[in-house]
Amino acid sequence: MTEVKEPPTKKAKMAETTTLENFIENIKNSKKNLMAILSDEFTKPTQFTQVYVGTVNNVQELSKIITTLNDKMPLKELQHLKRARKNEVILCSVQYLNTQPQNSIQEYIEENVYELKDAFKYFKVTGLPAMPPKLKKQQQEFSRVWSCNFHPNAYLEKLYGDQFFSINELMEHRCYMAIAFEIANYYLSKLKSNLLVSDVSESSLNATVVVDPTIKSIVAISYDNRENHPTQHSAMLAIDNVAKTQNGGAWNTADKSAIDNELQSHIQKKFVNVKFGARNYLTKEVLDEQKKNASESPYLCTGYYIYLIREPCVMCSMGLVHARANRVFFCFNNNLKGALSSKTKLHCVPSLNHHFEVFTDFL
Ligand SMILES: [Zn+2]
Repeated sequence: MTEVKEPPTKKAKMAETTTLENFIENIKNSKKNLMAILSDEFTKPTQFTQVYVGTVNNVQELSKIITTLNDKMPLKELQHLKRARKNEVILCSVQYLNTQPQNSIQEYIEENVYELKDAFKYFKVTGLPAMPPKLKKQQQEFSRVWSCNFHPNAYLEKLYGDQFFSINELMEHRCYMAIAFEIANYYLSKLKSNLLVSDVSESSLNATVVVDPTIKSIVAISYDNRENHPTQHSAMLAIDNVAKTQNGGAWNTADKSAIDNELQSHIQKKFVNVKFGARNYLTKEVLDEQKKNASESPYLCTGYYIYLIREPCVMCSMGLVHARANRVFFCFNNNLKGALSSKTKLHCVPSLNHHFEVFTDFL
């Protein structure tokens, strides 16, 4: 049987025919802003929870009814919802009543809030937003259903929008991402000439650039070594290379350098204005001796920006959490193993003790 092939998508076609050199130029020069990868609370459709709502007999008694209910039937997990709207009052969630011995909301009120036993004309079950709104647009959507408490956050609004970075910031981020591709170009061109984007996009290899934005300087770079070592993914090597700038590092101990000298001069020829090097690392003893604060010396990847060709896997993403990275940028999604968008959003897990921001959409 003949296999029917799907026609290549526009992006796949581009990868097949664009040279890596041209692609790197496009990554560097495009004016397209980047997109933040935010938690599902921002992006998924509103989740609703079923609640009992009572219509009061006498609207003039509404504030008294609310005071009594807040005292005897506090809303707990539904704090983001205003208790009343016009002549309607939220009583409790359906889920809560299901855990109680009473069979109906009227029976529950008679048993627990006796003074309100005749307060309601009738009851209904209705779906109300389960979580507080995070963005103005959610608040507007929610308010069509019920009134919500909402405190707008200008930073989150900007992060959700499509103009987060200024043109100068964008140029810097795009330049560092282009350098990540240039690292791949440098190593791959030793094996093959006339490289295409597909040589990178269709492989699993990765390259990483670590930048200290406070001094606008590349602190460490790395290229994948997963073929020779199961955990030497590019991001893990980059973290180790950053450690080398702070009297640490465990891998490739022979050179003890965060940046390969030959690769650095290759990059400098193509990206003439780019700076290399970390801020001076001060040991605890020196900090104490000079009466300096610990924040005056770099600590792991605190405050650093990490640029990766490809969305990192769970191991690398967790490594970047442990390393205290500040922002992670990646170009290609990793549909099978990516941990910052494709398979999960590790940076959005509330129980982790450190969170970084993630940006993509370079293409
Ligand atoms: Zn990895």
